[in-house]
Amino acid sequence: MAFKSDIEIAREANKKPIQAIGDVLGIPSEHLLPYGHDKAKVSQSFIDSVQGRPDGKLILVTAINPTPAGEGKTTTTVGLGDGLNKIGKKAVICIREASLGPNFGMKGGAAGGGKAQVVPMEEMNLHFTGDFHAITSAHSLLSAMIDNHIYWGNALDIDQRRVVWRRVVDMNDRSLRQITSSLGGVANGFPREDGFDITVASEVMAILCLAKNLKDLEKRLGDMIVAYRRDKTPVFCRDIKAEGAMTVLLKDAMQPNLVQTLENNPAFVHGGPFANIAHGCNSVIATTTALKLADYVVTEAGFGADLGAEKFMDIKCRKAGLKPAAVVIVATVRAMKMNGGVAKADLGAENVDAVKAGCANLGRHIENMKKFGVPAVVGINHFFTDTDAEVQAIKDYCAGLGVDAILNTHWAEGGAGITETAKKVVELCEAGSADYRPLYGDELSLAEKIETVCKEIYRADSVTMDGSVRAQLKAWEEQGYGKLPVCMAKTQYSFTTDPNRRGAPTGFSIPVREVRLSAGAGFVVVVCGEIMTMPGLPRVPAAETIRLNEDGLIEGLF
Ligand code: ADP
Ligand code: MG
Repeated sequence: MAFKSDIEIAREANKKPIQAIGDVLGIPSEHLLPYGHDKAKVSQSFIDSVQGRPDGKLILVTAINPTPAGEGKTTTTVGLGDGLNKIGKKAVICIREASLGPNFGMKGGAAGGGKAQVVPMEEMNLHFTGDFHAITSAHSLLSAMIDNHIYWGNALDIDQRRVVWRRVVDMNDRSLRQITSSLGGVANGFPREDGFDITVASEVMAILCLAKNLKDLEKRLGDMIVAYRRDKTPVFCRDIKAEGAMTVLLKDAMQPNLVQTLENNPAFVHGGPFANIAHGCNSVIATTTALKLADYVVTEAGFGADLGAEKFMDIKCRKAGLKPAAVVIVATVRAMKMNGGVAKADLGAENVDAVKAGCANLGRHIENMKKFGVPAVVGINHFFTDTDAEVQAIKDYCAGLGVDAILNTHWAEGGAGITETAKKVVELCEAGSADYRPLYGDELSLAEKIETVCKEIYRADSVTMDGSVRAQLKAWEEQGYGKLPVCMAKTQYSFTTDPNRRGAPTGFSIPVREVRLSAGAGFVVVVCGEIMTMPGLPRVPAAETIRLNEDGLIEGLF
């Protein structure tokens, strides 16, 4: 069967002018700041003016552990937004912006897929409204000011070996992971070891996505730890006096971006923190604004539910005071088969037994969502190779757990293919059975928080931590950071730290390798296994075939 590519479908979109989309949400034209004809930012003053309104219902789309077979969380988020509108509800979607670097490595966009996409998808995947450039600039300003401070005498007594503020660029470039800066003589400062992360890994990105408003943004930027002295006391961004100018650079980037789906329904696309060393959700300001403007807000968390949904619940919702009403767990027949032990090359053949075996992975995520007090429904994202018997196997398994599993065809059919799930979600929201609670309380020690997530969510028997890691956690508790939530950084492919252990493994331990404090964002990053904050390009990067054709259209992107 031949299908149109995502980009071909997106190009055929019958887009409305962005003001028409703003009208749907009741945003007056003077508060819609257009970037071209099909994108706009929503003014801060309008956002301030709607604060007194009641909130709509918040729906989280999450998934089983990802496999190379692909799950389709964004596709389902977009489809469900369209599906809710199709059944007459006022719904908005909230998703993340795309990082530039990965586009030139491996193909795969961030705007959904098939008939469930956000447009303009090319721009959304490239420069969009410049938010990530603003974040790169704000981050780089602080980098420059730190080295400048040292150059002019280092009054703060920064230990140059302990500058923890790395540099960023929005590109996959492994050669920058570890560098030496300030080479070339006296006029260029003091040489030191340095390195680059990709922009989405910047703490500035995490802060932009958690800040309630510009005041809060500025305060959190000031709270970031940029270096340590020889006596190990921290030097903050506010000591460098950079947070004011950084906030100026981020002023426009803080305003959420409004675009539309292929079915002309409103979509906020704003922020995009890494899902490993940060929390992986779109901005709080976009989500809270959307909740004031619509009855239903559908949003996505990165990775599988063990990482993405856990951070959404324990970091984003806790900090922003959000109370999700329902969760949709995306599963696919193909991914169930892979979780059941089938190799990628053999996914085409029917294998009901493998689907049944793989369902254990789904089952654990279903159980986990109950621990947050939010009701769930399973959305089976239909691929054309799925057989009826395989789909039925997932439905039967879920029925045994007392959860509905509904087959969705939004990728092929748009919102009309997901109305049954939309109705179920409305039913769950209106029944009011949700009683959101984070997994752990603020008052637990940092080590206890880590253990709670590892045991309750991953189902590890134990957690191993070196004495030095425990001592570091204790020191942060004494410095007043003990109330912070933890942000787990581990492989997305398994409940364990071994990406090859699919399904629902038992009898394992989680080794904590390192802990990092994101004092401005307000979480402690817990690194379990190898975590990459600057990706590289593959042997044959997609960039080699990306070009403008004779008609000025982009080729080779998706
Ligand atoms: P996630 O958000 O879980 O990473 P996406 O929704 O971005 O996944 O989808 C990843 C890719 O898979 C996209 O290119 C999309 O077009 C494709 N895809 C998603 N659902 C389907 C489907 N039902 N059939 C075929 N391709 C799909
Ligand atoms: Mg996604």
